[in-house]
Amino acid sequence: MIKFTNDELQIVKKLEILKNEAGSHSPSIITFRQKLPEVEIKVDACFLSNPYATDLFLEYFDEEILKSGKIRDLLECYPSQNGVIAEILAEFLQINAKNIFIGNGAIEIIQAVIHNFTRRKIMINIPTFSSYYEYVKEGVEVVYNELSKDNDYGLDVDSYIELVKLHRPDTIVLINPNNPNGAYTRIKDVQRILDELSFVDNVIIDESFIHFAYETENYQLVSLAHLVEKYPNLIVLKSMSKDFGIAGIRAGYGIMKESYVKSLLDSGYLWNSNGFAEYFFRLYTQKDFAVKYDKVRIKYIVETLEFIHELKQLPGIKVYPSMANFVLIELMDGIKSTDFVSKLLITYGIYIRTCDDKIGLKGQFIRLASRSKMENDYIIQSLKACIEMNVILDLVNETTG
Ligand SMILES: *Cc1c(COP(=O)(O)O)cnc(C)c1O
Repeated sequence: MIKFTNDELQIVKKLEILKNEAGSHSPSIITFRQKLPEVEIKVDACFLSNPYATDLFLEYFDEEILKSGKIRDLLECYPSQNGVIAEILAEFLQINAKNIFIGNGAIEIIQAVIHNFTRRKIMINIPTFSSYYEYVKEGVEVVYNELSKDNDYGLDVDSYIELVKLHRPDTIVLINPNNPNGAYTRIKDVQRILDELSFVDNVIIDESFIHFAYETENYQLVSLAHLVEKYPNLIVLKSMSKDFGIAGIRAGYGIMKESYVKSLLDSGYLWNSNGFAEYFFRLYTQKDFAVKYDKVRIKYIVETLEFIHELKQLPGIKVYPSMANFVLIELMDGIKSTDFVSKLLITYGIYIRTCDDKIGLKGQFIRLASRSKMENDYIIQSLKACIEMNVILDLVNETTG
């Protein structure tokens, strides 16, 4: 049991309210500071982004937009239309522009795709990113594939294929690496899924964390985006928020068959990006940026691996395998995840996510993001102290009855 003083309990109550107001997502750090000014957040280990990528973006932004005075253009002028931004990406991604749909964040594309193209039945692996079932329209059936705890919530490809054949949904979703646990399915296995399941109308592969995954020793980038021509039912979704550290400007894209892009554009979305997102997309395709970005991507992957390694040494927790920039952690010894999260926040100023609202998880779980090296060291020390304190409290409880 984690103990709180009366003052702390007041804050715990407010935290609970704030979390409830945010629904199935976490309150943003901005909302947090506004509504709970008495809590000082030192490290945001809830939001899943690469801080070095944000630094790199800011370097360019400062030089090219702020110092040059071009910021006025971004504010005063309309950004380019959806199809024009798609053309910028097309060359860089080596994908036909007609297959690219630009979103105001990937979440807009999830909503657009599910509202427009899922007609009957969707199959979703759980635990998952909640928007996939929350945006399902009335009348569409949702089938959950509960990932097995014994398999560390990883995807068992063979039984998955069998299950899809059994249920015959028109849409399936695979987040790779998955959120909230970071489990990764190798490209050859995803391709096997695509080969076996050509009867499914929409195979959504969400690659929002793919820049953190790798299959080779040199951390080479992997992706399925180029396969859209080969598999017309494939829809690859990509948020730029996490791996480029720019959630605030809302940038994402989807790669899908031409008729889908056309159908979405015909029903709206003409100017759904803003000037800052357009600036980002142009930067993303710029050679010098891409080279520098790859360096900070790899630096961050290596540091994240060290972080995960250190987490695994801590007693009282189980760290699940992850190829993303975060880990799912199970709290043992009867610690409640909401208590643990409150304690870390109040005592150490570390903001992490409880997973008690995630369907499909059995036990007490938190999700912890990797941050900068310095922040990660601070997180490790604090977690250690928090766990030890709990152990000591237990001992006291036992001896005092
Ligand atoms: C965060 C997230 C998204 C949405 O990202 P945007 O910020 O809307 O681009 C989509 N899918 C997954 C799996 C995510 O974690």
